[in-house]
Amino acid sequence: MERIVHHLRQSKQILVATHFNPDGDAIGSLIAMALALDALGKDVTLFNESPIPAVYRFLPAVDRIVRQVETVDRYDTAVVLDCGDVSRIGALAPALDRIPTLLNIDHHPTNTGFGDARYVDDTACSTAEILYRIFKRLPVAISQDIATAIYTGILTDTGSFRFANTNRTAFAICVEMMEKGVDPYTVAKHVYGTYSLGRIKLLNLALDSIELLNEGRLSVMTLTRDMMTETGTQPEDVDGMINYAKRIQDVQVAVLIQEINGSGSPGFHVSLRSDGSVDVAALAAHFGGGGHHRAAGFTAEMPLPAVKDGIRNWLARHQAD
Ligand code: 5GP
Ligand code: MN
Repeated sequence: MERIVHHLRQSKQILVATHFNPDGDAIGSLIAMALALDALGKDVTLFNESPIPAVYRFLPAVDRIVRQVETVDRYDTAVVLDCGDVSRIGALAPALDRIPTLLNIDHHPTNTGFGDARYVDDTACSTAEILYRIFKRLPVAISQDIATAIYTGILTDTGSFRFANTNRTAFAICVEMMEKGVDPYTVAKHVYGTYSLGRIKLLNLALDSIELLNEGRLSVMTLTRDMMTETGTQPEDVDGMINYAKRIQDVQVAVLIQEINGSGSPGFHVSLRSDGSVDVAALAAHFGGGGHHRAAGFTAEMPLPAVKDGIRNWLARHQAD
């Protein structure tokens, strides 16, 4: 914490970045940090490799987020948020080596400890919670815009205060953010309110794809590129669908396998959720990914049956009876 605060105060030209395929915590944290650094008079660039999902485009400063950075050499500091591994930034990750100071702020237990200074706390419900703590140590007033970004990060990373990471602090910070002018109804309306027809049709296909394996303790949902093309949807439209697979009675582990490459080399992003009886961060790590005890993921370049068999075999060895 002290070193992070020190570096933030010293910095002048700052690149703030979060993981590709961003969720509400990644985008909320990116914006909250950038606006706080603005308030300190810094020169700030907001970076995310992916398009920003439609449901988060109501957030302040969202139009300032760039998907490409021409000259990394002009930055003295990079702030990487909500990334267990620096490679989660995407193609820009190797270039960050050319920036003198790299700060790692995150809440994933699998965080690799990259960077010159780090503030990693897996007891925080979200990266937004950690930023709130940092802002309290900086001469920065939490504006309504910063509050909206922090609130959105906490709301979405706790699954609207339903997930196991929901803690007392999550509520306390959100109350304070309301006092700074956040209207929960307005945020919820944007984040959960409106879906395209394509997204609903995709949900239909996703639900239909669910298989129960390993004596009903494992549920697998599969989404192909064809399904996305057929419904005219984007990767962002898949957000949250895994929760249906997880809700099924007696299921301990839910898996969403999403095809990400064309018909050439097979490629999948795999999302994992657990009821707590299985550490899916360990399962993800086995395949080169990471995450939290109850929510994790990895990318696999192998045929679909191999992905499923790999998960089934790992679980057969690790799932509690
Ligand atoms: P999701 O399933 O929503 O994509 O991700 C769930 C959790 O797992 C998130 O905390 C995310 O950061 C982590 N995660 C997802 N995919 C990957 C991955 O490919 N690598 C790593 N290290 N973590 C991942
Ligand atoms: Mn997060």
